[in-house]
Amino acid sequence: MENKDLKIGFDNIIKGNKEWMEFVKNDATGRFQQLAKGQNPEILWIGCADSRVPANELTGTKPGEVFVHRNIANMVIHSDMSMLSVLDYAVNVLKVKHVIIAGHYGCGGVAASLSRKQYGIIDNWLGHIKDVYRLHSAEIDAIQEHDKKVNRLIELNVQEQVFNLCATSIIQNAWKERNDLAVHGMIINIGTGELIDQHCTFTNNDELGEVFAYK
Ligand SMILES: [Zn+2]
Repeated sequence: MENKDLKIGFDNIIKGNKEWMEFVKNDATGRFQQLAKGQNPEILWIGCADSRVPANELTGTKPGEVFVHRNIANMVIHSDMSMLSVLDYAVNVLKVKHVIIAGHYGCGGVAASLSRKQYGIIDNWLGHIKDVYRLHSAEIDAIQEHDKKVNRLIELNVQEQVFNLCATSIIQNAWKERNDLAVHGMIINIGTGELIDQHCTFTNNDELGEVFAYK
């Protein structure tokens, strides 16, 4: 690598991995040998791709305990094969018990969706957040301060993504087979580390309404 900064950055990755390998080697519990054979996580985390919101650290969990999917602004888009594949595998093969949609205050994706600026190809993704705004525009427009507008849309977006998740045949078919699957919405406060329950948990399709609840 000719660029010095690039080389230093990459070397740091390798150095960090050496430290991790040392930690794994010195672990006396046998945990990593067990993990090498397979995984049995109870949680599926669908979070924002933002570098400040790592699933394990925020939930006090270890490798092997959380199955993770992350994208810009923790969206559940019904035509997103990547998300659907993760969801199907997590729910039907790993049999996770908790699915968490995790948004975070100060989300750049949500903030961008409230602006009129063009950002490029990402605008097609942000359009799904603009759809959430349209559902709640009266409430958002009534808020004066811009940061508060963004943070309220972040909360509403989490609730809508929880609903989108529950509207999938994957979640609803799993509910027909078992009663130990809950879908939650949470918001991360990056400054305090708090994971705030949005109290929009679903454990069956009773409250989804006739159009959304499959028979
Ligand atoms: Zn974000």
